[in-house]
Amino acid sequence: MAFEGLTERLQKAMRSLRGKGKVSESDLRETMREIRLALLEADVNFTVVRKFVKNIRERAKGADVLEGLNPAQQIVKIVNEELTKTMGETDVPLNKSEKIPTIIMMAGLQGAGKTTTAGKLALKLKKEENARPLMIAADIYRPAAIDQLEQVGKQIEVPVFQMGTDIEPLDIVKAGLAQAKENHNDYVLIDTAGRLQIDEKLMDELKDIKAYAKPDEILLVVDAMTGQNAVETAEGFNDALDITGVVLTKLDGDTRGGAALSIRDVTNKPIKFVGQGEKMTALDVFHPDRMASRILG
Ligand code: GDP
Repeated sequence: MAFEGLTERLQKAMRSLRGKGKVSESDLRETMREIRLALLEADVNFTVVRKFVKNIRERAKGADVLEGLNPAQQIVKIVNEELTKTMGETDVPLNKSEKIPTIIMMAGLQGAGKTTTAGKLALKLKKEENARPLMIAADIYRPAAIDQLEQVGKQIEVPVFQMGTDIEPLDIVKAGLAQAKENHNDYVLIDTAGRLQIDEKLMDELKDIKAYAKPDEILLVVDAMTGQNAVETAEGFNDALDITGVVLTKLDGDTRGGAALSIRDVTNKPIKFVGQGEKMTALDVFHPDRMASRILG
């Protein structure tokens, strides 16, 4: 289960304060030390941990938790609020264009869940807004990538624009966008190529697509299971593409929490959706406050 270890350790860190009418400086110091270790063990970025712990400590002191009536409860409340803040405070909705189509570019490393997420998002838009999306298959390198997108399209009954693997991705995108205009599609989702790691060629290709398509939304899809690697990936893509949002996938797995808790703070870009399963319906809007409560258990 996701966050299991983190939840357990955070609860344990705060449990020692429970029942205490008064909390001493050293009790608080010990609790903060345990919270810090719990976060580091969950693979949260070191700088994020430091800032997080410092904020909690300052607030705990400022709020006179030590003299308060129920110190344990107050600390739990502060930790919850700071977790929420670290993950972005409020929900950030999908960017939309004033005139159709809204163009969404999906980016990410191979295996992160890009193609699956494109399908999930198209289905969500279709169901919730009665939208008529078009998906463009612009990953010409990975064998079977186009087939996979077509399968997904069939399953959710969303058309897929493709030109095989012999045409340059940018030209596919140009033709796909022209078709979307002609057909009055209100959303276009561009499934771009991924690689096993970030390389210059991939980034140049994505930059060219971005320059031409001028997407309203560049969603970076990252695998939450990969912890700090997900955060580094997000930094790399953000530096090159100035992404507009992140989708964290595989939160149904036993991710430790590092990616969820670090990405927003490190990249300053909002997590907009989370993937919680392989099914096409397993995509949810990201709510920082609900995620914080889930982490605290
Ligand atoms: P891409 O290479 O980035 O396009 O990745 P795919 O969309 O092909 O996904 C790679 C694998 O991850 C597939 O087996 C997906 O079913 C799986 N996957 C994607 N998102 C999720 C998710 O949120 N949870 C789980 N459990 N599996 C996922």
